Amino acid sequence: MRKIQMVDLLSQYEKIQQQVDEAVLGVIRSTAFINGPEVKQFQAELEEYLKVKHVIPCANGTDALQVAMMGLNLQPGDEVITASFTYVATAEVIALLKLTPVLVDVNPDTFCIDPAEIEKAITPKTKAIVPVHLFGQTADMEAILDIAKRHNLFVIEDTAQAIGADYTFKDGSTAKAGTIGTVGCTSFFPSKNLGCYGDGGAIFTNDDELAKKIRMIANHGQSVQYYHDEIGVNSRLDSIQAAILRCKLPHLDSYNARRLEVANRYNEALGSHAKVTVPQWPSNTTHVFHQYTMQLHDVDRAALKDYLASKEIPAMIYYPVPLHMQKAYTDARYTAGMFPVTEQLCASVISLPISPDVTPDQQEYIIENVLNFLNQ
Ligand SMILES: *Cc1c(COP(=O)(O)O)cnc(C)c1O
Repeated sequence: MRKIQMVDLLSQYEKIQQQVDEAVLGVIRSTAFINGPEVKQFQAELEEYLKVKHVIPCANGTDALQVAMMGLNLQPGDEVITASFTYVATAEVIALLKLTPVLVDVNPDTFCIDPAEIEKAITPKTKAIVPVHLFGQTADMEAILDIAKRHNLFVIEDTAQAIGADYTFKDGSTAKAGTIGTVGCTSFFPSKNLGCYGDGGAIFTNDDELAKKIRMIANHGQSVQYYHDEIGVNSRLDSIQAAILRCKLPHLDSYNARRLEVANRYNEALGSHAKVTVPQWPSNTTHVFHQYTMQLHDVDRAALKDYLASKEIPAMIYYPVPLHMQKAYTDARYTAGMFPVTEQLCASVISLPISPDVTPDQQEYIIENVLNFLNQ
């Protein structure tokens, strides 16, 4: 049995090695390292896959969020509502742009932002909502769009963990996560569901004007070469990464389907255990299982993690500290106990290895050891 990884990127590479090697060497031989044809082709292919009018590639997921917020012309002091249970990047860019992050609690079943809590947090200064499609399922977008419409707010989807997830509206129409709000932001960090071999990211929108502005901001605010209309940033997806992503995009649906299969097997094996709550997701979103994250009850989590490590099984805590309890985000507005769901999740969740390349024997070995610990 091959050594178990949280995400087995080597096995994935080996299955497409020839194609990836040729693509990378092709870029090197072309010397079109920056904004070469591979970038434009990847952009067009991703637009077609997502059924979105504009994909603007950029350097990473954090930049995608930042450039999107700059493109929406958000101003210092504007309030931006986001979830207290997320990766730090979401709140980081809000704070960096001198906007005011307003954290709200999440839904205990889906781990995604709770629309009822968004509604309570709205003030005259609120300008945008940033739902995070955490661990691979789409947040409650219909409710969020309804709030945004009533209060005239932008919706910036952080879809770094949910690329490929499908969301179904009440009328039966569907859309890909990240193409539902005003703008969507994703990351191609190697371990994401669609990952490159370095850093990468992209912004999605159906709004022509906004796309033009975002593209300009990501390229030094430049309209025509050496003419700068806005203060921008330098945020590019390089051609080698685009070439690798082009090799992987055609496999994204099968990668996500395999992740779901792995998650279903975990759910089947662990779901009825009294000490565990396995992931639940509403029927109107598919789950692409960027992480398989379960809640533990009356279990010494650190001891479980150590036990698994002693069996060479990695496990991770996503995320151990709620944003409002992080040193950098300490704020007089927040106290311990304010976001009970987030705090409970940070204290009780554990994520098991999941990737398209988990083998059945690896998975049975993981399950056996988790159950050994829980039943001891
Ligand atoms: C990975 C991630 C990001 C940031 O992406 P980078 O490419 O690492 O900058 C942002 N938000 C969420 C929810 C993420 O998981």
